[in-house]
Amino acid sequence: MRESFLKRLFSKVECGICGQRYDMSNIKVIDQEDGLWVLSVYCNSCRTQGLIAAVVQDGTIAEVITDFTEDEYDRFTDGEVVGIDDVLDVHNLLKDFEGDIASLFSKN
Ligand SMILES: [Zn+2]
Repeated sequence: MRESFLKRLFSKVECGICGQRYDMSNIKVIDQEDGLWVLSVYCNSCRTQGLIAAVVQDGTIAEVITDFTEDEYDRFTDGEVVGIDDVLDVHNLLKDFEGDIASLFSKN
């Protein structure tokens, strides 16, 4: 499938924040494998940057899976999903933690 065709397809996708359609010039293909396309999109209207992962079949977008940012995508594709360091971090956090679970996950 050609990239220009795909961009045209994605220019019909609306921004998840403001509903404006993406401009073709603001759609960038980041990755493609077995019909799974990962595209970076930028909304002119609300200036939101997003990432779209979609399964494209027979010229139609079968599924839009996510709207990660580009940084998040890099992090998830390059790293382990949950590494041993993450487990140790949580272990150490819980070891010294006093209080209930709700306060553990609250921001303050
Ligand atoms: Zn927008």
